[in-house]
Parts: sequence; C-alpha cells; structure tokens
Amino acid sequence: GGLLTDRAIRRRLLNTAASDSNIFNYRLPTENETNRKGPLAAWTVSIKDNICTNDMPTTCSSKMLESYTSPFEATTVRLLREAGANIMGKTNCDEFGMGSMNLDSAFGPVHNPRVPNGQPPRVAGGSSGGAAASVAAKHCRVAIGSDTGGSIRLPAAYCGVYGFKPSYGLISRWGLVSYADSLDTIGIIASRHDEVKETFDVLSQYDDRDPTSISQDVRNKAEKVAGEALQGIGKSGNLNGLCIGVPQQFFAKEVHPRVMPSVRKTLSTLKQLGVEIVPVNLPNIKYALSAYYVLASAEASSNLARYDGIRFGHRSDELESAEEVQGRNSTKFAKHIAKTRSEGFGKEVKKRILLGTYSLTSELFDNYFLQAQRVRQLVRKDLDRAFCLNNVMESTQMESRTGVHAILHPSAVDIAPLVSEAKERGVETYTQDLLTVPASLAGLPSISVPAGRAEGMPVGITISTQWGCEPILWRILQNIG
Ligand code: GLN
Repeated sequence: GGLLTDRAIRRRLLNTAASDSNIFNYRLPTENETNRKGPLAAWTVSIKDNICTNDMPTTCSSKMLESYTSPFEATTVRLLREAGANIMGKTNCDEFGMGSMNLDSAFGPVHNPRVPNGQPPRVAGGSSGGAAASVAAKHCRVAIGSDTGGSIRLPAAYCGVYGFKPSYGLISRWGLVSYADSLDTIGIIASRHDEVKETFDVLSQYDDRDPTSISQDVRNKAEKVAGEALQGIGKSGNLNGLCIGVPQQFFAKEVHPRVMPSVRKTLSTLKQLGVEIVPVNLPNIKYALSAYYVLASAEASSNLARYDGIRFGHRSDELESAEEVQGRNSTKFAKHIAKTRSEGFGKEVKKRILLGTYSLTSELFDNYFLQAQRVRQLVRKDLDRAFCLNNVMESTQMESRTGVHAILHPSAVDIAPLVSEAKERGVETYTQDLLTVPASLAGLPSISVPAGRAEGMPVGITISTQWGCEPILWRILQNIG
C-alpha cells in the first residue's frame, strides 16, 4: 500500500482509533488474518516509533524524521512477523526516547487511558507512553518499546500493564534508532506476564547485525545459572527457597507513601508462598540517576550528530547555490546545518545535546563522563554482590555465594502525574527515573508488574534479577499471577 507520509492523511486515519489519547503516530487498518502460523499467530503488536518498519514511517516522534520511512526493518520486527504477529501501528513516544512523561513528542502528548471518566488527564509515562497506552486501551495484545533508563517500565507502571526490559544484549537492537547505545534495550509490554514471556522467547536471539548481541554460548551459561538456582526452589509447588531483597535505597524520600500499600501487599503474598524477604544494601544507588543522565546525554549528543539534513531527515530549505549544497562555503554550510537542527529537534532533545556535548569537552571529561562511568561500575558491583547468582559476564565466577535471587521495589515514585502539573516541571521530571535507572546501568533484566491502585490509578512494583536470569522472573510471576 501507499505510504501515509502526509500528516493530514495520517490524522484522518487515526480518527478511527483512539486519537483522543494520541496513542499512535501511524496505524494500519486492522487485518483479519486467521491463516497466520507461528507462536504469535495473529497477535496484534504495536511498535514504538523509534523502531524501523518498512511499511510505515519511523519518526521517533521528531519533526526531524517526520517524513522518514526506513528501507529496512528492525530484527525485532522481522522476528515478530516470522512468528505470525500482525504489526498494526507505530506508537507515539517522547522524541528519540528522551523523556519520562510522553509530553515531549512532535505529535503531542499521550494521555493515560486508565484515568477514570470525568477526571483530569494524566500522563501515560514515557518515553514508551503510546506503547503502554496501546496495550492498556486494548488496541493490541503486545507492544514493543525501547528502554534506556526506564522508558518501558515507567509507562507500564502508570498504565497498569506489565513492562519488561530484558538483560542488555539479549534482544537485538538492530533497527532501533540509537539514543544511548550502551543502555538501549528493546522490550515488551503486555497485559499478561505469559504474553511477555512468549514474546521474549521469540525475540531473544543472537543477531550478527548487532555488535552487542550476546552469543549463544554466553546465553547457555546464564541459562545454566538460572536453571541451577531454580532447582532448589518450590519443591512443594510454591516459592519455598527463593530469597528476595528489598533495597532500602529504593525507598527514598521521593517515594510517595500512597504507593507503599501495593508494595506491602506484594511482599506479603510472596511471604505466603514461602519466599524469604531480606533487606539489602546498595550504597551507590544514590548516585545512579546523576550518572545515568551524564552518560545517556553524552551518548545521545554523539548519536544525534548524524541528523544534519544532508543524508536524510528534515532539511532547512534555505540552501541556495550549488556551492552551499556541496559545502564548499563552509560558514554558510555550518549555518545551514545549525538551522536544520534548530528546526528539526524539540526542546528536550536540544537540552540533552547541550548537556552531552558539555560533559564530553576535554576540560570536563574527567569530572563528568569518566566519573559517571566509575559510578556505573560501582552500581554494577553493588548489585552483583547482592545476588546469589553469578554474573556470567564477569570473568571471576564464585563456587557458592550468598545473597538474593531478585530484588523488589516500587516501579515509580508515585502514580501517573496530572498532565497539567507535569507540564510545569523542569529537570524535576528526571526524578521519575530514580528507581528504574540502576537496572539500566547494570544491564539487568527488570519487569514492572501491576500491583494495585492508589487514587484510582495503577501502581507498579518492579522485580529485577541477575544478568541473563530471566527464568527467575518468569518463575516468580507464575506464582504471583
Ligand atoms: N526518562 C529517561 C530519559 O529521558 C529514560 C528514557 C528511556 O528509557 N528511553 O533518558
């Protein structure tokens, strides 16, 4: 079919489907195919608009890529189609994945579909806000999003659905538009945990097109670590023998008391299933958020350098002579690139480019970028020490170790903020990511689970485990349902 690169046509198409919540940037008419084959046969799946599809544009919700359609498809999209899934639309997000509220999109904010009728709008969370909302509003069965510092887990918590970020390197990033490569992951949102697992089983594959994709050999090692740990658990059908840590640092003063009843309820359910709950100490977590924003912005400033209006994307229409176009008049050419970028990028993206460029300048590099890398190592070590499971990515493997199988904490510091209030906030918005960035810095698998309500809005709790030990998460979820 023809491409819907014109905004007006797209909008008209969207009027037929939840345009009030602004969930989709593009949406294909729903196919009713029953003859599909594969583990995900005829599952409807939405794709975040920073993941490449060749039958719909990939805009990253940016004016910069408003009319960009990729000539290739992301590995994830290919695997989904091969498994029989029906790719039905591209979901709205914060521009290039930068944000926690989905307020910073060239196509406007996504509204949370879980807000009770007649109440003022709340944010869906970001940056995968459209993805979480597309599942919560039942437009599709599964949503594929990206999570760099919490962009799947946070909106999933706000919208009352499951949001899963896999171990770094297990799901191919080929075809995901880079934000901060060392942190970027593609993940899964669904309203049931078994759907998350089944989708993960399809997507977790070695891919030689992604240089950070994990080899089969290392995958097998991690599977063995998780498998051996699970052997000692639940001999009598429950979770006897499992140990879950509650890190005190995740109950910071920023966490609103109204999310606590949901956490306590989950902990008591787990106790009844025979789980041992222990406090754990992760002293360096308090530096995680600052380190994350230094590293993510630095990588973003470098990644976004490619949007210069020359090869693809938005181009300011001011170039006049061939001399200018070919860059032979360098002053004019530089001005033109600056104009293109000023027009194409939104406010938040510009802020990140400035922050990132600043911290990478030679005088500041040691104090910002390197320091943040050190903090990242410390956060990793804290988490490694907490687990009784070996990290197969480390060279030293211990024979036996004490510690927990997983850690548990609230997914977010509060329920979804009101749109009116969220718009007023500045860098304060960054505290929304306080509880999600540690797992990102350490590359750990982490899932936000719907766990109750406060003020009528969903509350999520998060469970994370050692790198590559996803089976531990699935086992816990099977039992708490
Ligand atoms: N809110 C965080 C940021 O803006 C996380 C975004 C993400 O995970 N893509 O960087």
